[in-house]
Amino acid sequence: MSTAIASSALTIGIDIGGTKISGGIVDSNGNVIDSARLNTPAAGGKDLIDAVITLIKQFQNKYEISGIGISIAALISADHGTIVGAPNIANLSELNFVNEIKKEFQLPVIAENDANAAMWAEFKFGNAQGLNPVMFFIIGTGVGGGLVIDGKLFRGTNGIGAEFGHMCVVQDGLLCGCGSKGCIEQYASGGALLRYAKEAIAANPVKGKEILDLADGTLTGSALTKAAKAGNEVAISAFNKQADWFGQACASYTLILDPQAIVIGGGVIDAGELFLAPVRDAMSKYMPFAGTHQSPKIIAAKFGNDAGLIGAADLVRG
Ligand SMILES: [Zn+2]
Repeated sequence: MSTAIASSALTIGIDIGGTKISGGIVDSNGNVIDSARLNTPAAGGKDLIDAVITLIKQFQNKYEISGIGISIAALISADHGTIVGAPNIANLSELNFVNEIKKEFQLPVIAENDANAAMWAEFKFGNAQGLNPVMFFIIGTGVGGGLVIDGKLFRGTNGIGAEFGHMCVVQDGLLCGCGSKGCIEQYASGGALLRYAKEAIAANPVKGKEILDLADGTLTGSALTKAAKAGNEVAISAFNKQADWFGQACASYTLILDPQAIVIGGGVIDAGELFLAPVRDAMSKYMPFAGTHQSPKIIAAKFGNDAGLIGAADLVRG
């Protein structure tokens, strides 16, 4: 498949999330030259495949396409085609997604886990270039993970390699969407951040009201970010708590992989150093063999919401 696509050719990247499907025409330098978006059909399954096919056909009317890369919020088998688990998208499990798309188009097609695809975008075109090994986290509602070792995306034996968000940090802790308990995702995700903020607001209603006023009554990550940037100590304390859990996990990951850098993307990065600085502090505080080695760099990702489709569009080039 790799030799079939010329470097001057355009590929399509499709990113399928729980609520939105984003598509883009991507060149070999990772530039998105056209894009489109639609809602993820609630029924998932065949409806979702039909929606993806329609989107690709719309692009094909305007561009000559040489391959299709699909980034999806799902676990994908080692054959890069079968969805083995998709907790946030209906009726996808056990479906050979890639075969269904290939039936329609005589083109190379690959599917990749969304965090892996985003990791690849950062490694090829973003802030993870030249780093080895390099870990990637996408911290949004959940915590997704990706890993590149020696210039290759690491997938493991069964497609669950680099699912760093599901490392257990609390025995019999909070129930996680993966079916296990006490995963770091439950303590360091955007969802956990909101939980910490709600607790802190309840404990300090005066400062908490400042945040809720910014949020028009409903607490959101962006309101928390705004409040923290304005110096609100309740908002800052919530970020610190999330960062403390995450930094502790980074210290453990360092023992396993000794990465040169850990790149962080997702909504939390809007807070910038308000999140990254306490992550570095916590990582140092909890680091085993402290003082005997350098800690990995903790850096923000370059790409936002387009990371998955940019990475997938490049991965299909082989
Ligand atoms: Zn989990």
